[in-house]
Amino acid sequence: MIQDVQKIAQALIQSRYPVALTGAGISTESGVPDFRGQAGLWQDEDAVELLSLTTLYGDPQRFYSKGLSLLQVFRGKSPNAAHRALARLEELGLIRCVITQNIDGLHQAAGSQNVLEIHGNLRTSSCVICHAVFPFEFVEKAASEGQIPPKCPKCGGTVRPDVVFFGDDMTSDFGRAVEECSRADFMLIIGSSLQVAPAAYLPGMVPRIAIINLDETPYDESAEVVIHAKAGTVLPELVRVVEQDPSLKRRQR
Ligand SMILES: [Zn+2]
Repeated sequence: MIQDVQKIAQALIQSRYPVALTGAGISTESGVPDFRGQAGLWQDEDAVELLSLTTLYGDPQRFYSKGLSLLQVFRGKSPNAAHRALARLEELGLIRCVITQNIDGLHQAAGSQNVLEIHGNLRTSSCVICHAVFPFEFVEKAASEGQIPPKCPKCGGTVRPDVVFFGDDMTSDFGRAVEECSRADFMLIIGSSLQVAPAAYLPGMVPRIAIINLDETPYDESAEVVIHAKAGTVLPELVRVVEQDPSLKRRQR
């Protein structure tokens, strides 16, 4: 594995505009359930149906009771060694931005600055009519007080979590992610099986990619390095190799 880690370190140091793409696999070691993994939450068809626009608008009572409590599994977790290592790579100037499929906010908690959350977040909720933004807790409080769906104090519209549910459009961060990918010359993919569209199209926009993921991905053949191991093991090692590399100092001058 060490040789592959060294190859990724070299690619990061030599690249003009390296970016990262992360998925559920980077957060499993923080105790966040994997959307698509073996015991994944979304393997459960009830969960897929529950967290959809059909339920949000068609059966708000069910969405704001069961759906909202399902989202709680993504909250209150702590970043792990992989999140911290990625934040360190950004600090060293070796990652320009982190594009994530995760909604757990753990990259920011670990210190990453430039994070694009293409599937939304659990910090805020917003009005579907006037787009006023509230803390996530606004919908929790309204729902617990029996106000379902939660109503916007400004216009009376429905207030919903700012998470991309089944049937939703992507966030504005996705548009920015596409821009970043068109600028990038290297992408480090971590903990994503690259099977969820449209996020799965992003690696195809970048000339060089490397993958760190437990399972195989559709991009394994086109990647210049593939490491099938835990992100929490590989990324701290990558930081160690990068920090010892004499060419890093030259690059930073
Ligand atoms: Zn409103």
